[in-house]
Amino acid sequence: MMKNPTNRRVFLLQAATVAGGTLVLHGAAHAQAANMVSEKDATAIALGYSADATKVDTKKYPKYAAGQKCAGCQLFTGKAGDAAGGCGIFPGKMVAASGWCSAYVKK
Ligand code: SF4
Repeated sequence: MMKNPTNRRVFLLQAATVAGGTLVLHGAAHAQAANMVSEKDATAIALGYSADATKVDTKKYPKYAAGQKCAGCQLFTGKAGDAAGGCGIFPGKMVAASGWCSAYVKK
């Protein structure tokens, strides 16, 4: 027998919310993986796109400065804190927030 039905209701609501949130997150992660710009994409190669800005070839791209990444670029259309987002250079695709390419323009 439940001593406090209100607590049980709150718990069930929280459990349902967490389960729903997990589903949404899984869906978003899946969509992102399918839509991510590949470093082997012709435009990505031409612009030296790297999904990990810390791995940029600084000899080839001396304009790269530590700390620069897609999340801080004017062309990044994702929200602050997003792991990936759109980019004007790669229509219909997502770039990693921690990525970088030579078209980088500081926000
Ligand atoms: S243009 Fe900016 S947001 Fe797009 S890939 Fe290059 S650095 Fe990232």
